[in-house]
Amino acid sequence: MKIAFIGLGNMGGGMAANLVKAGHDVRAFDLSEAALAAAKDAGCTTFTAASEACADAEAVVSMLPNGAIVKSVYENDVIGTAPAGAVLLDCSTIDVATAREVIASAQGAGYDMVDAPVSGGIAAANGGTLTFMVGGTQEAFARAEVILNAMGKAVIHAGDAGNGQAAKICNNMLLAVQMIGTAEAFSMADKLGLDAQTFYDISSVSSGQCWSMTSYCPVPGVGPQSPSDNDYQGGFASALMLKDLRLAMEAAGTSGANTPLGKHSQEIYEEFAADNGGLDFSAIIKTL
Ligand code: NAD
Repeated sequence: MKIAFIGLGNMGGGMAANLVKAGHDVRAFDLSEAALAAAKDAGCTTFTAASEACADAEAVVSMLPNGAIVKSVYENDVIGTAPAGAVLLDCSTIDVATAREVIASAQGAGYDMVDAPVSGGIAAANGGTLTFMVGGTQEAFARAEVILNAMGKAVIHAGDAGNGQAAKICNNMLLAVQMIGTAEAFSMADKLGLDAQTFYDISSVSSGQCWSMTSYCPVPGVGPQSPSDNDYQGGFASALMLKDLRLAMEAAGTSGANTPLGKHSQEIYEEFAADNGGLDFSAIIKTL
């Protein structure tokens, strides 16, 4: 299939390469020369404008930084430029309202389109093991699923347009709350004279068990290998967690959801990411 891919950064670069490995003809565009050169090395055909990459495409996949860019790229370079009948997939993490607005514009012009944000970081993008949460009609989902399967290990239909973004920000808000709670528990255990490994052995088989503890422990040397064992390098940057918390709190405001712990988590990551945005989000334990 001829697939245009727009946004070949940390995530998009590996995703486009996996589409090539699956046998697709990938037509890549990014504003960055370095990203384009890497995509070419991975077997993509590169273009100097998004509209040129889309002109002959049967599908368009985007992996861009934010909602304003997604809206501008789709309005200016994709909708009305990609051939009628192409399916459009935006995998970026953006606000629910913009996702719904862009999908409505695409549908108005006759395209099937989904929002399909991902769970999993750069390693999962490179390894083709992302989880996609997808919003859109049943028909659009069925068409998108075939393409997403080449880049991920799980593709889940979350409901109508924008519901992929809704699932993503609800999940990441929960993750932030859970990580801060896990870090607080380990810090207090330490203050009370309880060894971290011993607390892990008890809590990981008790009711406090959670993913932030047993898959991603913020304490070095405890639990499976995680960014804490690498001085909090790699993993999921605090700046990206903050981005998702801001989107979550924006959505809470517009939907009227009551999210006091989400709000407090945003405040905590706002302060932390100001100087430590590149560190993995589990490094929040350093502040306690
Ligand atoms: P990135 O900054 O590495 O990549 C974004 C790319 O988009 C860059 O190469 C940039 O040059 C390009 N770009 C910007 N404006 C463009 C335009 N108008 N036309 C074409 N290309 C343009 O970011 P990333 O880490 O790859 O993240 C991409 C998306 O994935 C974001 O929405 C992010 O929130 C989400 N995400 C990232 C991670 C992660 O671990 N990095 C995990 C899950 C989700």
